Amino acid sequence: MTRPETFPEIREAVRRLCARFPGPYWRALDRERAYPTEFVTALTKAGFLAALIPEEYGGSGLSMPAAAAIMEEIQAAGCNGAACHAQMYTMGTLLRHGSPAQKARWLPAIAAGELRLQAFGVTEPTSGSDTLNLRTTAVRDGDHYIINGQKLWTSRAEHSDLLLLIARTTPREAAKTRTDGLSVFLVDMRLGQGTGITINPIRTMMNHATTELFFDDLRVPAENLIGEEGQGFRYILSGMNAERILIAAECIGDAKWFIGKATDYAKERIVFGRPIGQNQGVQFPIARCYMQMRAAELMVHEAARLYEAGEDCGEQANMAKQLAAEASWAAADMCLQTHGGFGFAEEFDIERKFRETRLYSVAPISTNLVLSYLAEHVLGLPRSY
Ligand SMILES: Cc1cc2nc3c(=O)[nH]c(=O)nc-3n(C[C@H](O)[C@H](O)[C@H](O)COP(=O)(O)OP(=O)(O)OC[C@H]3O[C@@H](n4cnc5c(N)ncnc54)[C@H](O)[C@@H]3O)c2cc1C
Repeated sequence: MTRPETFPEIREAVRRLCARFPGPYWRALDRERAYPTEFVTALTKAGFLAALIPEEYGGSGLSMPAAAAIMEEIQAAGCNGAACHAQMYTMGTLLRHGSPAQKARWLPAIAAGELRLQAFGVTEPTSGSDTLNLRTTAVRDGDHYIINGQKLWTSRAEHSDLLLLIARTTPREAAKTRTDGLSVFLVDMRLGQGTGITINPIRTMMNHATTELFFDDLRVPAENLIGEEGQGFRYILSGMNAERILIAAECIGDAKWFIGKATDYAKERIVFGRPIGQNQGVQFPIARCYMQMRAAELMVHEAARLYEAGEDCGEQANMAKQLAAEASWAAADMCLQTHGGFGFAEEFDIERKFRETRLYSVAPISTNLVLSYLAEHVLGLPRSY
């Protein structure tokens, strides 16, 4: 807001695209809980969702800081990148750990928008945050794996051709270490629906296209196993850092949208014969949210920089996600308060964005789990679970 922007051309291009999808577009979808197909198609055609796919596979070959700038701008324009953000980071597991044949087969089609890889199936109803306790199994049967189990909160499954799935290939008791025995598969859901996968949408407080999945003897070709059997947990961990950084950038975009909206309104709204923004009781919460957002933004930039440099960034990615989610939620609350009763009116878009940004204190990782990670892995405090 006050300093020169990073990636000004990319940001400007994203803003121009987003201007074609104003508030009424999102409100109409929100009422119906409908998927923003036109928006996702426009982003795909413009190459933004292939930002992190290298040019040799037809992607834009951009850096993580550039990808973060794209997601931030989408949110800052009042749009909702949750409809498609996974397309950016889910393919990272395939890119880093897939075989040359797998990459050649899938990545160009994803980059061209012919195939959507929007779904990432980790969470299960009984394991929750305890990912290593997941129960979905994949059992080798000749040149296939047979998948049985259930996933919960698998977002965008109905709008994705491919699903990155983590399942147990070695029983927990027989695994060498806590993290061994899980494997990652690229599941072609176009072949599965009706023959092994059931997708049930879950209606939530915001428009998020999330679902639960049931696998009933789903046959997945063994050639769709990514990397080595049993090493899957390690493969998805680095993808999770990318996910946290990009979602943190989205929260920064949300916070900027709320702060901008509140600032404009506080200048215009006249009560007691003067703009409400003339009262320090209204100014200070806006200034405080701006300060909080800027501090979180620095951590997002730091995490993205370390990720791009190939350095370990678990600490920074977690802190960026947490600080940015707190900043966006504080800004959402402040924006609503600044607008008084109008904050609740649908046509201001505030109540919609308020509902949307609340998610990021819970997903993709909840506050306590971030704090626990920092306590144990950064500060060396005793393991609590
Ligand atoms: C709209 C939406 C979309 C989602 N999309 C996806 C997706 O696409 N793919 C996917 O795999 N998952 C997805 N998720 C799942 C999301 O990642 C989880 O909801 C999140 O990680 C929290 O897990 P949980 O809901 O099972 O909560 P739980 O693990 O049941 O935790 C409940 C609460 O208890 C706290 N808690 C748990 N254990 C401890 C502990 N030891 N110490 C302190 N506090 C603890 C947690 O912090 C949390 O506040 C989505 C969730 C939602 C709501």
